[in-house]
Amino acid sequence: MLLLRYLRLHGIGGIGIVRMSGDECFEVLNRMFRPKKIDKIENIKGYTIKYGFIVDNDEIVDEVLVSFFKAPRSYTTENMCEINTHGGNIIVRKILELCLKNGADLAEPGEFTKRAFLNGRIDLLQAESVIDIINSKSERELKTGVKQLEGILSKKIKDIKQEILDVMVNVDVSIDYPEYDVDDVTNKQILDMLDSVQIKLEILEKSFDNGKLIKEGIKTAIIGKPNAGKSSLLNAILKEDRAIVTEYEGTTRDTIEEFVNIEGIPLKLIDTAGIRDAKDEVEKIGIAKSKEIANEADLVIAIFDSSKELTEEDNQILNIIKDKKSIILLNKADLNSILDESDSRFSCITNNIIKISAINGDGLEMLYSIISKMFSLDEINLDNDIVITNLRHKNLISKAIENVKNSRNTVLDGMPVDVIAIFIKDILEDLGNITGEVVTDDIINEIFSKFCLGK
Ligand code: GDP
Repeated sequence: MLLLRYLRLHGIGGIGIVRMSGDECFEVLNRMFRPKKIDKIENIKGYTIKYGFIVDNDEIVDEVLVSFFKAPRSYTTENMCEINTHGGNIIVRKILELCLKNGADLAEPGEFTKRAFLNGRIDLLQAESVIDIINSKSERELKTGVKQLEGILSKKIKDIKQEILDVMVNVDVSIDYPEYDVDDVTNKQILDMLDSVQIKLEILEKSFDNGKLIKEGIKTAIIGKPNAGKSSLLNAILKEDRAIVTEYEGTTRDTIEEFVNIEGIPLKLIDTAGIRDAKDEVEKIGIAKSKEIANEADLVIAIFDSSKELTEEDNQILNIIKDKKSIILLNKADLNSILDESDSRFSCITNNIIKISAINGDGLEMLYSIISKMFSLDEINLDNDIVITNLRHKNLISKAIENVKNSRNTVLDGMPVDVIAIFIKDILEDLGNITGEVVTDDIINEIFSKFCLGK
């Protein structure tokens, strides 16, 4: 038995929802719900909503709608009900307490989804996608989450396992029942299967490069000498109507990281206390700090004042970016600019040189389109391509690839087929760990502890 509200207790909304799951949830509900039209709860069908009142010792607590879901057709596959109350803090808390008083227990974070997994309605990959969907910061991230919930990655993993099993079933039979006349599985068949499996796993592994960017954003640093226009650029980016901004503590001291999603381009901007808020020259960041920030970044945007000749400090900035993925911005294009894109001091470093005006926003569109191309984000077709966004999955896929290679070596070393089979079982185990078939309790607990309450 468990229950929970899933509108935040500290937020006030139009409605609040208290959710219960478990065999006895209707009994608990019975002790506190008076439907307007008297109907025995046992007779209420699943997927119906009843109007009535929550009562505490015959005193009306709130007017509510209760949705009923009957096992096995519910989120958790157990009997479930959701009490839709008015959304104030006090009322939601009061109903939650009444449920507890009447025999329910409080759910752990992620417990509803964990039950859906443990009861076999969804696999671990699908359960994990629920967190991704809830935490999505961009449409691309949301779409990869929804695809995973639909089960396309699970199916891909299952197909790969099946391909291995189709070959290995014959091996196992010949090990267990040498007297049976099964098709001899030749080493060639095993090697062909391993090659094909390796190619498929490597494509999945590679997709994590983009998956990570989709999920975490392209870690982007803006560097430039004082007055080049760094804070104006940052403000222009953050002010975009469609920018969704989420703040993080940066990994380097004194930095804040802000996730900005602009027209599907996920950027994690590394902002230093020195860039945005410094009014005072003394606080502006120096070359050493710029270097440190640039080192940490996937992408460095170096900004120069195009209305002035380059200074020594500018040259040092160019030096910092020469080994990085970078974009050069020639800012203040609205003024009389004396620097331009064809200048060899820039073009010897990168082809990505754009004139912009941070003050009036000219050139920003071009900047986004270049970023999207640089990271091949415009090439991903989320309708067809499977993208791995979760490090746990990526690590298991890498481990499976290692085990494919080990298996191949045992074949090439001329090991007997029962030894080869042991190595190949390791691949199956890695894949089973991804979908949760052979996963340990510790891993399950760790995964679900990241969920929010009520899901
Ligand atoms: P930072 O020190 O690199 O962060 O530079 P700021 O963003 O504070 O800009 C320095 C000065 O240049 C400010 O007075 C800005 O208004 C001005 N500035 C920044 N970008 C532009 C631009 O595109 N055009 C013009 N005309 N002025 C700009």
